[in-house]
Amino acid sequence: MQFLRRIIRNRGRRGTLAGIHKLISTIDQKVRGRESIDEIVSSLDAARQPLWGYFRRGPCSPLAAKALTLKVLNLMLAKRELLARSTTPLSRPYGLVVDPSNGCNLACPGCVHSTSVKALKIFDWNKGLLSEALFRSLMQHYGSYAFQIMFCNYGEPLTNPNTPRLIEIAKSYYVQTAISTSLSIKRFDAEAYVRSGLDFMILSIDGATQKVYERYRKNGNIEVVYRNIENLVRAKRTLKKRTPVLRWQFLAFEHNAHEIPLAFKTAKALGVDQFTVKAPFDVSWDDPGVQPADVPLTNVELDSGTEEKFSGNYAVDSDEMATETIEHEFETSWADKLAQHRERQPASTKLPVVPSEHTCHWLYKTMVMDAHGRILPCCAAPHSAGELVFSTLTHARPDDCFNSELYQEARLFFADKAAYQEERAQSGGTPGPYCAGCKFDQLVTDIGGKEIAQSLRTFGKGIIDSQTIQILSGW
Ligand code: SF4
Ligand code: SF4
Repeated sequence: MQFLRRIIRNRGRRGTLAGIHKLISTIDQKVRGRESIDEIVSSLDAARQPLWGYFRRGPCSPLAAKALTLKVLNLMLAKRELLARSTTPLSRPYGLVVDPSNGCNLACPGCVHSTSVKALKIFDWNKGLLSEALFRSLMQHYGSYAFQIMFCNYGEPLTNPNTPRLIEIAKSYYVQTAISTSLSIKRFDAEAYVRSGLDFMILSIDGATQKVYERYRKNGNIEVVYRNIENLVRAKRTLKKRTPVLRWQFLAFEHNAHEIPLAFKTAKALGVDQFTVKAPFDVSWDDPGVQPADVPLTNVELDSGTEEKFSGNYAVDSDEMATETIEHEFETSWADKLAQHRERQPASTKLPVVPSEHTCHWLYKTMVMDAHGRILPCCAAPHSAGELVFSTLTHARPDDCFNSELYQEARLFFADKAAYQEERAQSGGTPGPYCAGCKFDQLVTDIGGKEIAQSLRTFGKGIIDSQTIQILSGW
């Protein structure tokens, strides 16, 4: 602590690039050295003003600099909580996934909306639109700490007419925003999406002619998709905006691989920014005629300068609620947050001295919410095989969803299997978290470093140097 205080005293409130790098490295050493949570929290509090002082000298507004400070310090705390395998992290998720709508007008094989999957009732998934009030509630609790929001999990975001408004709200928390859509929607207000401040739009188009396209995108209409792309490109030009960056994403199956060259040509002609060929999940269990193809995967930037485009998209006017929330979160010390956290979580589990070899990164980095406010730990779809709905965010109870009982149990499963079994034995037969039988992400921990690094590079236009970004994203 003495060393940290000396750095801060020397650099003062304004800070310098080297000083900020030193500050972050010093906290990082403490995190990796597994110092106590009280010690880490006190370092975060000591770093708050110097970091803000430094960030506000860049192109960020004072409020944006506060948001960036909160996001960076929360990230360091998240690293500590993951490395320590904490079951009740003080850190908040630094990524959010939100469904503006649970419904979709298409019925692709393998999806919760597939006709046969629905008939067999494999998934627990009901239609519904996300309300602005519920989304605001999520943002009030988690928005100040998140770097990115993906507005799509298992629904088509364009079926909610209010999605552009939700994106606007997200942007006022200085969050990078993305949606993934089929774009096969007749009523589509391209200008509203361009105006909303949306950064990135993934267009899921797996074919270039109707016959081939609709083999997988059942009920989709390629002409509607093309018209909507034209409208988006025109709206960007009219409104003089470089965002959203449009990526045509082509899932390569055996039935559509021969159309990749035509799709690429069409993407170029329409003015799309990126073209990518991706390997799909195997959906042949639902439709045996739809098989993944063994073709080279590509990602081509048709219009360069993606990060520059994102950088220019942080200059937003925060609304009153976002401003108040960011100010409040910034002014509340991490020590106070820890004290409140301990009040809410008095019975935190004692973990083994040596942390377990593996944990699931989703339990620390991202929180997923569907249109009904159901909180899921990851992008797996809820089904009958175990409990995946970890909590529900309601207007009346927007408290600590990230540390619900199921979240704690799921983390304990990875942190200490024996303690987990003991807890389960005393559970009285209530269903345990799906994670205990999950086959995904059991070997590699992916904290989302690539995405974090991109957010840090684009937020503040290069004010954070590459070595510091490496510390913050390379763990
Ligand atoms: S477009 Fe997406 S959400 Fe809709 S059915 Fe297809 S995969 Fe599912
Ligand atoms: S263990 Fe599986 S179900 Fe649980 S959060 Fe990780 S990926 Fe999702």
